[in-house]
Amino acid sequence: MIVDVHTHTPQYRDAVPADELVVNTAWRPDRPVISSVSWDDYLAHQAPAAVSLVFAVAWHPGLTVPRLSGREIGDTSWYQGNVNDATATFVRAHPERLIGFMALHPHDPHCLDELERCRGDLGLRGIKLGANYQNFDPLEARALAIYERAQREGLPILFHQGTSPVRDAPIRLAHPLLMDEIAMRYPDLTIIMAHMGHPWQADTCVVIRKHPNVYADISANFYRPYAFWEQLVRATEWNVLHKLLLGSDYPVTTIQETIDGLRGVNRVVAGTSLPRVPEDAIEALIERDALQLLGLR
Ligand SMILES: [Zn+2]
Repeated sequence: MIVDVHTHTPQYRDAVPADELVVNTAWRPDRPVISSVSWDDYLAHQAPAAVSLVFAVAWHPGLTVPRLSGREIGDTSWYQGNVNDATATFVRAHPERLIGFMALHPHDPHCLDELERCRGDLGLRGIKLGANYQNFDPLEARALAIYERAQREGLPILFHQGTSPVRDAPIRLAHPLLMDEIAMRYPDLTIIMAHMGHPWQADTCVVIRKHPNVYADISANFYRPYAFWEQLVRATEWNVLHKLLLGSDYPVTTIQETIDGLRGVNRVVAGTSLPRVPEDAIEALIERDALQLLGLR
């Protein structure tokens, strides 16, 4: 069964009007990314996945109109307002295919109330945080309060990790070694480190190696084929391939592209004597039961 642990809540319920198309050219080197997508776009692209985890990002309290590539998107979208309601509405329409995570901001004074509302009323089953996008210190007290509650309630947290082309997002707040600090303080908290912490995949390998409840997703990596091969060889040598989870980061990539990228990972070293990522390990990654590992069965 294919589980995609990393997708974003579509910002449009219905078809995206032609004049509201948002095209990002900075996200990946091989093709532009259309980030304004509808429910139908999402569901069609996610067809290869039996179950997908889906979430939004909680923007800084008071800032209700997120900006992507300098363009305001909130004013035209059903998504405006509480992004957790948006995620929950989408998940409720397709409960067999979707599991929703909540977006929280530790600087929101009602953050823990929102956590309870999302868990209880909305049925969201994990948390998405992106400290660089949200501009909070992952080790500040208000953030620790979220981890404490998440550990107690059995809510896994997916953290954006590593770089981003968003100019206002401080990269240092998303360094993988910060996850080591969090995992030492909250050993029973389940953590997913997104994107294998690109470009610090080596740091991510040593963090997931240490902590039984910390995993990494491989989303949004395959389109840098040399680095992708290198990081999966590294994961093989550090013996952490079993801690890697399949994720697409849709709409940045599709799950099918990601699976194809995984199966083609050794192409860059064809005809050389460089090490290859074991093919059975790639298939195991694609079929990994992330729901079981994350306690989401
Ligand atoms: Zn993402």
